[in-house]
Amino acid sequence: MRVGLGFDAHRFGGVPPVLAAGVAVDAGRGVEATSDGDVAAHAVADAVLGAAALGDLGDLFPSDDPRWQGADSMELLAEVVARVTAAGLRVASVDVTVIAERVRVAPHREVIRARLAEVLGIDASAVSVKATSTDGLGFIGRDEGIAALAVALLAEA
Ligand SMILES: [Zn+2]
Repeated sequence: MRVGLGFDAHRFGGVPPVLAAGVAVDAGRGVEATSDGDVAAHAVADAVLGAAALGDLGDLFPSDDPRWQGADSMELLAEVVARVTAAGLRVASVDVTVIAERVRVAPHREVIRARLAEVLGIDASAVSVKATSTDGLGFIGRDEGIAALAVALLAEA
């Protein structure tokens, strides 16, 4: 078994909505990013890449490459899964925590789990989605942005 860690953060701004695993969790705001700025998808993708020791999202999809302008991050995650599969590994489980002050993730949790499970090719029971705030501290506490942390466990295919 191999474990990987992922982290991502984006500043609020840009075009609504704020996405978490392709699910609109804040329809009134967006985030500044080259892609769609989906922190949950990015953190999970980096965790999966990390577990496989295949580099990071920035290596695969450079932010200065116009191809990734406005990219659907769940499609990028699907590409990451394809690379991991090609390396003889499979995702066994994922745990992701979305960190935000005012964005409410909990009402969308089951949909987010289902979307991640579908792209990862695993059962939703192996996908955990959690949400927390920073108790008013830092850029997240000031409601300037949103972040996500993820761990992924990979096994031999
Ligand atoms: Zn990102």
